Amino acid sequence: MKYDIHFSIAAFIIYIVLLVSMRVQYNRELNTVKKLRNVIICLFATNLLDVVTAYTITYRAHVPVGINYCLNAAFFIFEALCLALFVIYIRFVIDPEKGRKNIFDNINLGILVIFAIICATSFLTHLIFYFDENNDYQHGILYNLPYALGLYFQVFALVRLTRNRKQFNKRQFYSVIGFFSISVLGSIIQFIIPGSVFVLYFALSVAAFIGMFGLETPDYIKLEKTLTKLRQSEENLKVAVERAEAADSAKSEFLANMSHEIRTPINAVLGMNELISRESEDKQILTYSENIKDAGQTLLSLINDILDFSKIEAGKMELIPVDYELSKLIKTVSNIIKVRCEEKGLTFNVEVNPDIPNVLNGDEVRIRQVLINLLNNAVKYTEKGRIDFTIDFEAVNEDINLIVSVKDTGVGIKEKDIDALFESFKRVDLEKNRKREGTGLGLSITKSLVDMMDGSIEVKSTYGEGSEFKVVIPQIVIQQTPIGEYKDTDISEPKEKYRTMFKAPTAKILVVDDVKVNLMVFSGLLKNTEMKISMAISGAQCLEVIKNNKFDVIFLDHMMPEMDGIETMKKLKEDSTHCNQDTPVIMLTANAILGAKEQYIDSGFNDYLSKPVFPKDLEEMLIKYIPKEKIIMTED
Ligand code: ADP
Repeated sequence: MKYDIHFSIAAFIIYIVLLVSMRVQYNRELNTVKKLRNVIICLFATNLLDVVTAYTITYRAHVPVGINYCLNAAFFIFEALCLALFVIYIRFVIDPEKGRKNIFDNINLGILVIFAIICATSFLTHLIFYFDENNDYQHGILYNLPYALGLYFQVFALVRLTRNRKQFNKRQFYSVIGFFSISVLGSIIQFIIPGSVFVLYFALSVAAFIGMFGLETPDYIKLEKTLTKLRQSEENLKVAVERAEAADSAKSEFLANMSHEIRTPINAVLGMNELISRESEDKQILTYSENIKDAGQTLLSLINDILDFSKIEAGKMELIPVDYELSKLIKTVSNIIKVRCEEKGLTFNVEVNPDIPNVLNGDEVRIRQVLINLLNNAVKYTEKGRIDFTIDFEAVNEDINLIVSVKDTGVGIKEKDIDALFESFKRVDLEKNRKREGTGLGLSITKSLVDMMDGSIEVKSTYGEGSEFKVVIPQIVIQQTPIGEYKDTDISEPKEKYRTMFKAPTAKILVVDDVKVNLMVFSGLLKNTEMKISMAISGAQCLEVIKNNKFDVIFLDHMMPEMDGIETMKKLKEDSTHCNQDTPVIMLTANAILGAKEQYIDSGFNDYLSKPVFPKDLEEMLIKYIPKEKIIMTED
């Protein structure tokens, strides 16, 4: 035998191993795997033709020359086919979905077709190979063309992969480099060593081996795919979080706006109504005014409920524990409910265990809110009969658990509805309760507050007969002195007209608000204090007025057109030419959203008062900030 085919036989083994492992292990659906398999099959066939022609050339005496021509031409054509398939494979490595073509692919295809034609016609042209008159195999003048083409295609593919290197990771990229180095090295060796030793297809089989396990390892592909998916879902998650945050801040903004928009007219309604009730002696008008006050306050508590709910939802509700007297708490709550029961003709019975320690520590405001919510519901959902308000306790070491029960003889709750009671916006038994106003937020807020205070709430109810709500709230005992017998005093005290707490005829205050009616309410509420009240309708006007007038306190509205309260405050602090550098500035705003107070204090305000303005709060604030010597207290 004229040729050494040992390397070719080794190459066969490698190709078979590659094809078998591809069949067994690899995902046959993947485009790159399909294309690589085509390349390997073609290499296998070309290698086979290489070996077969080695025999037919060696034993050419026994083989018709036509067959030899055909076999050798087929060998070179298969070589061209290998290159074509290789180019296609590389296209799919870069773009696994579509294996997009470009203009060079068409040019390369043209080159290969021409090359195949040259090979096929070599028996006429003798350009690549031919058999001489002695039937000896001879190289034509273009015999090295296949090697040159092989090199050209490899370099071409390498450039292409390098240009797209961003989409490969390190491991893939080095596999690509290894793959090319070995195949180029194979071509060079084949070129240098005697043509009788076949090494090229062995080198190509090793290159294919590296390519396959470097680029196409199934587990690796799976891992890559999973990583891609993971990256994608991370992206999606980011977008979703951004959207949720945007929605959340839109909600807070909406709540702040709504709260502001509704509080502003309530301020006017309640404020003006207060002025009417102060100035009128007519009983009928006073009754009307009382009704307006009730309605205004209901509206306000609705707004407060919605704000509370949003605070709880945002996890921003905080408890503020203080020392307080339980007896006073029970009295204020009972006073409110007693009046409502009287209006509806219900009996209101308060029972207090006289041994409960009276001075406790806890969030008095929130406990009051819980009790009023439960008692209000009891009144709302009861048409006749009674409401029992029982306050008891159990000792826990030094402290106590406050046990409060609110029992009514009202409409009751169906067994199936009990679980849904504490859900937000959930109202039950609507056909019966339609006429009763409500948002379905009260019990949800109540439950959240009780939970925050580490307490518990439970409901017992018989439909049509009545319900009992029982809350248990742990409280710290400050003084063991018992509360004593509960006396139902001051409950039906006649309503007194409001009297101002102080007079300050020498005090000068400034109030800034863009809504005229608010200015009227403000100055009206303080009329009896005899203070000198100046008013400004905008931030700009405020800055003008303070230049030449010294004030004891300035009240500044927040949301004003052009220059808002915070901006006005900033300018006021920056300007050193006026005489109000040390004047306390109080934010007077309808923005009651959580965090607002801290925000105002941070902006340099001394204090914060929310609208609607209640006369008592306003006066207390003034007593705190007006110089003591200017205040004459009127109360005993
Ligand atoms: P709202 O009273 O504003 O509808 P709540 O959250 O306070 O909302 O109460 C939720 C639902 O529970 C009410 O719609 C009502 O059907 C029911 N409910 C609450 N308290 C009572 C009660 N004392 N008696 C009967 N039903 C009640």
